[in-house]
Amino acid sequence: MRKKGYYFTFFAIIIIQFLAEFGLLFVNFDIVASYNSTHKQYNTTKTLNPFGLLYKNLLNTTIIGLFLGLILLISTLSILFLILKFKKDIFNYDLENAALTDSLTGLYNRRYFDSFYENIFAQSFRYEIPLSLIMCDIDHFKKINDTYGHDKGDIILKEVSGVLKNNIRKSDIAVRFGGEEFIVCLPSTHIDSAVDVARKIKQMISKIQTKDIKKVTVSMGVVFYKKEFGSESKDMLKYLDNLLYEAKNRGRNRIISEDDEGSVVEVEENPWIDG
Ligand code: GH3
Ligand code: MG
Ligand code: MG
Repeated sequence: MRKKGYYFTFFAIIIIQFLAEFGLLFVNFDIVASYNSTHKQYNTTKTLNPFGLLYKNLLNTTIIGLFLGLILLISTLSILFLILKFKKDIFNYDLENAALTDSLTGLYNRRYFDSFYENIFAQSFRYEIPLSLIMCDIDHFKKINDTYGHDKGDIILKEVSGVLKNNIRKSDIAVRFGGEEFIVCLPSTHIDSAVDVARKIKQMISKIQTKDIKKVTVSMGVVFYKKEFGSESKDMLKYLDNLLYEAKNRGRNRIISEDDEGSVVEVEENPWIDG
């Protein structure tokens, strides 16, 4: 059954069940009213029970009650059946989602990245569609943990992840690649736009502050798909890793990429004194 049909059936059964329950309310009331009326010699059946009123000459309220009860039972069993049959659809969404994202930051995890990246890289290789990757690693993060505690470290991880999420397009994905290492995958994006994104992210991260931690910096590498990578998606990642390493090597808090001739360059002067 298609999802739409499933929702419609579910909704229809709920309505039927609601009507049956609503009807039973009157029937029950009617039975009590009839019982009281034998003592008080007062009969309220006709005014209180619309079903009794409708069928007053054909059926008594007990039969109507049984009939409505049966509808209730059938609809309840149908709902149970539907829930059991479609429990995968209903519950698996969250499970799947949890398996693809990192619980601390809400970013995609490495597992998701691996499959996404393989696919997008294959498209770039085959159809020469542009593809850029940004790798970003928090500088001296161990020191943040050691000085302020693991919990404060976690807060910084969440803040950095928030910056990544809020500064990319819907078609891009932000990934927690390792502990304090992130990748942004930008399909159909040329290097100049990717560098702009990296710049913006770096600038926004530099504004992160908590009560104790006044400065957070990151080192970044930005790479663009080129023919030399061939069909080896791993080579592009390795190259990106080298660019990040180079950023760390040159003193951190900077972005390293390539110029038009393929030379490794720093794309932004370091405006802060590294610490
Ligand atoms: P560098 O500038 O060279 O990147 O130095 P670094 O200290 O950032 O790098 P290093 O690899 O030495 O340390 C990374 C630290 O990140 C160590 C680890 O305890 C911490 N870390 C990894 N995952 C988490 C996490 O989920 N929460 C917190 N609070 N810390 C984490
Ligand atoms: Mg680090
Ligand atoms: Mg690291």
